[in-house]
Amino acid sequence: MHCSACYREAKQDFCTKCSKELFDGGKISAVLNFPAPTADNFAEFQKHTTRLSISGVQLKYSLRRENKELVMTQKAGEYIIKPILASTQLAAIKDSPENEHLTMQIARQLFRIRTAANGLIHFSDGEPAYITRRFDLKPDQTKYQQEDFAQLLNRTSVLYGQNYKYDATYEEIGTLIKKYVPAALPALEELFRLVVFNYVVGNGDAHLKNFSLMQLHTGEYRLTPAYDLMSTKIHTPYENDIALELYENCLDAPFYSAYGYYGRPDFIELAKRLAITEKRSSTILENYINAQEKMVEMIQKSGLSPESKMSYVSTVKDRLFRISGMTNKSQPYI
Ligand SMILES: [Zn+2]
Repeated sequence: MHCSACYREAKQDFCTKCSKELFDGGKISAVLNFPAPTADNFAEFQKHTTRLSISGVQLKYSLRRENKELVMTQKAGEYIIKPILASTQLAAIKDSPENEHLTMQIARQLFRIRTAANGLIHFSDGEPAYITRRFDLKPDQTKYQQEDFAQLLNRTSVLYGQNYKYDATYEEIGTLIKKYVPAALPALEELFRLVVFNYVVGNGDAHLKNFSLMQLHTGEYRLTPAYDLMSTKIHTPYENDIALELYENCLDAPFYSAYGYYGRPDFIELAKRLAITEKRSSTILENYINAQEKMVEMIQKSGLSPESKMSYVSTVKDRLFRISGMTNKSQPYI
């Protein structure tokens, strides 16, 4: 059998390494002993969103460990689970838990992006759910101080309207990193790698609340591990390619103006604005391009439906082509 977190061969639901990371070594079943909750407050829930986005239709529940089992809880939740997306307007919703699990595993296994510990579990009725361990809890159950970039940029619905989470650029996130994070350069590179990753996998919903800073016990701020990564394009095929613009007026830049989508020069320019040299940003882009085969392999081996696998693979190939610097005329863009 395969580990329900890292996909590697395992003798139990979770391999030793993942069981340690997720459950402190506890032997926990990947099947919960209760059925999927029904979303009875869903109409109320959906009213709060106008833009058709994944975050607007994703229900979340808290779990804690009790006698080697995971149980639902109102407080002291150590885990968050996300069941199948609750929307009739989205495509392939049954694949949403595995989509997030797979995307988080691609990020950590192939690109060494720091991510929240995660896996795929099932309710007793067979419905899948994505599970992730909260990273903001200290061993004594108190929380690390954490602020997302909507808070840090003072983007609220009162001041910026209902789409406030999308009302900024990735460069602005970088500007705040320079201000708050003492080890700014590695954090800026982490941000850049994550922005490119989201583009490559087709995550069009990486908005301001999906990036956060947390305060360490030393008092210093650093970026939190990455969370909420998925190929949203599988569920919302007609959404924007990217949640935030790369930098102000980037849509007027020569490449975007010529092709109508972001390409290599746009990412190189973002990197430059994040104080990353062109040599370094080129290397990062090449790492993604060189990993195409491995990405396709992980997608093919995943638990996604055949249709979603096809959609995911085609997005990845398309996006890697775009950041390769080649254009449809097979000429390097200069
Ligand atoms: Zn594992």
